[in-house]
This record gives sequence, structure tokens and C-alpha cells, in this order.
Amino acid sequence: MKLSSIEIINFRNYKQSKVFFGDKKNYIFGKNAQGKSNLLEAIYLLCLSKSFRTSREKEAISFTEQSFILKGDMKLDHGIDKKLALVCSRNKGKEISENRKKINKISDFIGNFPIVVSSPEEYNLTTGSPPDRRKFINILLSQLNKKYIHSLIEYHRILKQKNTILLNWRLKGKTYSGELEPWNDRLIEIGSIIIEFRNTFLNQLSDIIRNIYSKLVEENEQLEFKYRPNIEFDSYEEIEDCFKKKLQQVHNNELKRGSSLAGPHRDDFIFMINGKELKKYGSRGQHKTVLISLAAAEYKLIKELTKETPIILIDDLYSELDNDRENKILNMLDSFGQVFITSTESFNRLSKNEFDKYFFVEDGSIQSLSF
Ligand code: ATP
Ligand code: MG
Repeated sequence: MKLSSIEIINFRNYKQSKVFFGDKKNYIFGKNAQGKSNLLEAIYLLCLSKSFRTSREKEAISFTEQSFILKGDMKLDHGIDKKLALVCSRNKGKEISENRKKINKISDFIGNFPIVVSSPEEYNLTTGSPPDRRKFINILLSQLNKKYIHSLIEYHRILKQKNTILLNWRLKGKTYSGELEPWNDRLIEIGSIIIEFRNTFLNQLSDIIRNIYSKLVEENEQLEFKYRPNIEFDSYEEIEDCFKKKLQQVHNNELKRGSSLAGPHRDDFIFMINGKELKKYGSRGQHKTVLISLAAAEYKLIKELTKETPIILIDDLYSELDNDRENKILNMLDSFGQVFITSTESFNRLSKNEFDKYFFVEDGSIQSLSF
């Protein structure tokens, strides 16, 4: 998939801009706080209907405006052209349309225009807490498989119901009369589907990322990426039983605390380099290299499984990395589809023809430049 052009209206510090992109590597540069990351955010939001920087899209409406509009011309791999538009207003929220037809269910839209990002915000993945990592897994797997996103929505609906019962029980101090059972049964049924998906896809992702990372670093660095499910199991046939046992174990605690304590909503995953946890011992450059490897691994997995080439966004490529890693990453990206890279470094520093197109961003306006 390629994004041929985007039009941005009243989005963050952009008033109105239209840009035509190159099919391969696009280089976007400018000083701090000029709108580089905002441009990548606009691209991501249009393709996925979600931002990688905020869960409240309304924050991206320009301070003095009431709504923003993003419009894009997309070319899918098999040659079909699509026009996407996303409008987000302070009073009505967001609305997406594909070829001028309104999308009613976001879950049917996610994954049709695959995209991956590596940005400073993603440091939460290697340094932050489990919810940040689960959000990452959910976005990736939702792009890979419709059944995953539908199961996830259903799981959260059941969880909400269960939590309401638990909370009521705690507040009113009534004697427990078994009203959780049907919700727990359904939680096990849908939760097990989610766990199986996560295990399958994260194992595949783990092989790909190990391979990519080893090509970007010195020989003596080995990256491991491991799924840490809240429900432990040895085989897929066992997931439901293990889930049931765990729910029995935590039952009294759930009643006492008034919240759900077992299930994939408490999953996590970790990164280790040479057996040591990245979060505790990694250098800044290692974190950055892992995050770029992760985006590259997501790209490969999505491309292989969906047969559609994702767009890849790399925000702030040059910070934290030495020349050797920078060059290896740029070489790796040559074999990818459409890539958007931002940097504060002027393009004069680059060698000629390294990128298809160059863009200079200043105070919310974008200028296309030639070398
Ligand atoms: P850096 O190199 O520091 O990462 P950048 O070019 O990526 O800089 P952006 O994050 O794209 O910078 O843009 C930041 C600018 O956008 C800031 O000046 C910020 O005040 C402005 N901005 C953010 N949200 C809004 C908004 N809703 N309305 C207007 N301006 C906004
Ligand atoms: Mg930025």
C-alpha cells in the first residue's frame, strides 16, 4: 500500500497543507516543534483511525478550531485506489469514510490500510508499564486478524459487566450468590481465543525481531522477545482449564478487591538482551534499536500474513544511534515499501539519492525540496 498524497486541515499546528509523497523513502526534516511528528501522526491516524500519541483524538484539533480533516489518496498493492477521509470535531467525535462512504464500524476498517510506527512515544513499550504493551499488541493483532479485534471488543464488554458485579458486591457487602459464573464462563471462552492469538502471533514476531536485531547490531548481542501471559499454559488445549483454575484461585481476592484479577487483560511481554531485561539494563541506543527492529518485524509479519504492504513511519531516526546502526537501518529500509522518516538533520548531510523525496517542515507548513 502507498499513500500518494495527504491533505491536512486544522490538525495540530497545520492550518491547511497538501503533500504528494514518493513511493519509497520519504525524508521529512525541520527544527524542533515545527510539525514533523504531527505529519506522521496525521498519516497514522488516517490509515488506522487511531493516533500513536494520544487516545483522545480531539486533542489534535488545532487549538482555536472546532474540527480537523485529513484526506488521503491510497494505492493498494493490487492496484485499487482508495480515497480516505477522517473528520474529527469537538462535539461529534470522529467519522471516517472510504471512497466517500461512511464507515459505520471502526473494527471493520482497522487493518485495511496497514501501518506501523517507531516513535519516541513508543519508548513506553520498553520502559513503561504493561497497559502500554498490551495496547501495542492489540493494535498489531487487530491489523492482522478481524476475529482478534471482534474478540477483544467482546472480552472488554464482558469484563466491564463482571467488574460492575464485583464492585456492587463490594460496596453493598451482600453475600455472594454465584452471579459471576455465567460471566466467568464467557470470559474464559473469549479470553482463551485472545490468549491463543497472542501466543501464536507473538511467537512469530519474536523469531522475526530476533533476526532483524541481530543484523543491526554487533555479533555478541542477542534479543529475546517473550510473551508473558497472565494465564500460564503448556498447550492450547489447556488454556480454558488453566483459565478456570486461575479464576477459582483469585475468586476471594476478586470479591475483596472488587476487580477482575485474572485473564489476558493482565498479560505482558518482555524484551531481553543476552538474558538481561532491557527495561532494567538497556542503553538508550539499545532501546531505540529494539523499537526500530520491532516496527520492522511488525511490517514483515503484517505483509506476510495479510498480503498487503504496510506503510512504515520512523519518527526521529537519528537520535540515540551511532553511524553504523543508522546506515544499517537505512539499508534495511531499502527493501521495504513506503517509508516516512523524520529528523532534525538537514538533508545536506545525506548522500544524494538516498531518499525518493525530501520535505522541509517549518511552523506547520511543508515544502517539497529537490537535492
Ligand atoms: P521535534 O523535533 O521536537 O520532535 P516536531 O517537528 O516533531 O518537533 P511536532 O510534535 O510535530 O514537532 O509539533 C509540535 C508543535 O505542534 C508544537 O509547537 C505544539 O505546540 C503544536 N501543537 C500540538 N498540538 C497542537 C494543537 N492541538 N493545536 C495547535 N498546535 C499544536
Ligand atoms: Mg517530533
